[in-house]
Amino acid sequence: MTKTLRLLLGDQLNSQHSWFAVNNPSVTYLMLEMRQETDYVTHHIQKVVGFFLSMRHFAKDLQEKGHQIHYLTLDDPKNLQDLSAQVQQLVKTEGFTRFEYQFPDEYRLDQQLKECGETLGIPYEAVDTEHFLTSRGYLQQLFEGKKTYLMETFYREMRKKYAVLMDGKDPVGGQWNFDEDNRKALKDRTLLKKPRVHPKQVNHITQMLETSGVNCIGNIDPAHFNWPTSREESLEVLQYFCEELLVHFGAYQDALTTWDPYLFHSRLSFSLNSKMISPLEVVQTVEAYWARHQDQIGIAQVEGFVRQILGWREYMRGIYWAKMPEFAQLNYFRHERKLPNWFWTGKTKMNCLSQSIQQSLDLAYAHHIQRLMVTGNFALLAGIHPDEVDRWYLGIYIDAIEWVEITNTRGMSQFADGGIVGTKPYVSSANYIKKQGNSCSSCAYQAEKKTGEGSCPFNSLYWHFHARNREMLEKNPRIGMVYRTWDKMGNRQEILDQADYYLAHLEEL
Ligand SMILES: Cc1cc2nc3c(=O)[nH]c(=O)nc-3n(C[C@H](O)[C@H](O)[C@H](O)COP(=O)(O)OP(=O)(O)OC[C@H]3O[C@@H](n4cnc5c(N)ncnc54)[C@H](O)[C@@H]3O)c2cc1C
Ligand code: SF4
Repeated sequence: MTKTLRLLLGDQLNSQHSWFAVNNPSVTYLMLEMRQETDYVTHHIQKVVGFFLSMRHFAKDLQEKGHQIHYLTLDDPKNLQDLSAQVQQLVKTEGFTRFEYQFPDEYRLDQQLKECGETLGIPYEAVDTEHFLTSRGYLQQLFEGKKTYLMETFYREMRKKYAVLMDGKDPVGGQWNFDEDNRKALKDRTLLKKPRVHPKQVNHITQMLETSGVNCIGNIDPAHFNWPTSREESLEVLQYFCEELLVHFGAYQDALTTWDPYLFHSRLSFSLNSKMISPLEVVQTVEAYWARHQDQIGIAQVEGFVRQILGWREYMRGIYWAKMPEFAQLNYFRHERKLPNWFWTGKTKMNCLSQSIQQSLDLAYAHHIQRLMVTGNFALLAGIHPDEVDRWYLGIYIDAIEWVEITNTRGMSQFADGGIVGTKPYVSSANYIKKQGNSCSSCAYQAEKKTGEGSCPFNSLYWHFHARNREMLEKNPRIGMVYRTWDKMGNRQEILDQADYYLAHLEEL
């Protein structure tokens, strides 16, 4: 009789997968908490706790439904802490005659599992995770022979393919994209809502991590761990998003504020990336809710949200599989600097950065504009090596898994890919941060000043970035205007000197 071992990785918690449609006594599901995974980068403690707790919940659920589970906690003496070694050993000692796994979303695990399969001496097979809306290779096929992979083109294809916000062949509301309506700054704090949290005790896991000597960053309150760690909780967060947050999502999508860490963002990325919920059900639930409440919720709010999931999330995955492993080496501007130490402590006088970093350390979360236009913007202007930047983003956020982290960080945020993901670098001076948020009014630096004592570092660094990379950027039609302005400025040398000073004193900013 066939005896099958099926592997489930920590980000493969899809209870709707066809694997679970029937109980098969000849199948054993393997789930592993491993040092291999806790140690490949220094993770935020909430990220490790979030994954282990969700995995344990998932395993318990499967067991209750009658499936056979082999689950090894991190501190189990039988745990070899290495995926290949554990699978090889189990196949040998338990007499499995077949090995199956779901396609991993990370290149390193994909390679490891292929190699592992080859060593087992039994048939093995990889199956789809049944999570994403596109196959690994879809984006590459769509853009076959094209130099640039435009997200907007991909997004429209997806809207049509899945009939989301469509009115026959046309987009609902008469246009595909309401980006123009997504840029409001938040002036009225009474609009803000508390997040839907699911506080739980996680002492048993934090203690296990400490005893095992796992090195983590960030803070945690083990009596109130607030992230959703089951499908039911994830669905509640989704429902709360529809009822309370969607109404303002699009308008304040690009807002920055010191009043609240989440604004109107959904907090669904961890639930999605661990696959506890699926992108299609999120998009369809939100669309259906909007359809029933069109008198209260505008199309720009819902389209802004759909674009993130149906567009950006699937697009980034496509880019990852089209461009890995080379993508992880790209460094278009040949940046070499180290990340200042205050990225790990939040102790900088720059208020926008201190706030975004401290929040990331406390919550393992920052919303998109904090990641892109505050921390990412600074790292790019300061010429930090993309490896350093990647390591930070991959570690600190609860939703950080390489396929979506590296494409956003090295691609969208650092332009280290030279323009595969974005058509121009996302950089700004203090002007943008001041316009979109309220951090400048209580900052040690002055947003209006370009040079001299107290001048905001974003200003001189912005011009320094453009001046030093002129050859690589000037021909870009979306940037030409910046150089025309620069050439007309009278105090160019003073600005460059100011930036040089700041670059030489990054640790003290
Ligand atoms: C430098 C940088 C690094 C990032 N690293 C990650 C990461 O490691 N993991 C991750 O999931 N997202 C990452 N993002 C994208 C985005 O910032 C997060 O998905 C989002 O902040 C998660 O919060 P939310 O669930 O409240 O999102 P919402 O604002 O409510 O958006 C809804 C959902 O849309 C999806 N989404 C939104 N923007 C993107 C995007 N650019 N790419 C892919 N999916 C998107 C997410 O699944 C998100 O949950 C990164 C962005 C930047 C600029
Ligand atoms: S003045 Fe500059 S450093 Fe301070 S909050 Fe504004 S943009 Fe950030």
